[in-house]
Amino acid sequence: MNTKDKLFKLNISEDDTCYICGMNSESIDHIFFGCHYIKATILHVGAWIEIRLPFRDVLRWRLEKMGTRVQKDIQNATLNACVYHIWRQRNLSRHDLTLLHPQKLALLIIEELRLRIEGMDKRKLHASDKQWIQRLLQC
Ligand SMILES: [Zn+2]
Repeated sequence: MNTKDKLFKLNISEDDTCYICGMNSESIDHIFFGCHYIKATILHVGAWIEIRLPFRDVLRWRLEKMGTRVQKDIQNATLNACVYHIWRQRNLSRHDLTLLHPQKLALLIIEELRLRIEGMDKRKLHASDKQWIQRLLQC
C-alpha cells in the first residue's frame, strides 16, 4: 500500500511535507526511516543503549530485543520514548515552535530514561543487569 500518506489523507497533516525537515513527503516511511533528523536522534539514543542495528531495522528492535527481561524492558521503554518525543517534536515543528537539535533531543530522551532507571528497584536484579544499568547511568 502506498503510504503517501495516511497522515495526509486522514487530515492529520495539512499538507504532505515533513514538518521536521521540510524536504520530503511526511509518510510513515519517511518519519520513521527516512528523515535525517529522526535518524540522527535514534542512532544517538541507540548507541547509548548499546543497540547498533541499522536504522532501517529500528522497528525490528521492538521485535527482537536482546538480553535479559530487564534489558528488554529498558529497550522497550527507550523505543517508546523515542517515538513519543519524535512525534512531539514533529507537532512542535508543525506549530512553528523551535525544533531541538537531534543530539539535544537524544540527550533529553536519555535523561528521561536515566531518571526512570534510577527509580527502579534494583535489589533483586542479576549482577550482569546491575552492571549494564550502571553503564547506562554513567555514559
Ligand atoms: Zn523529514
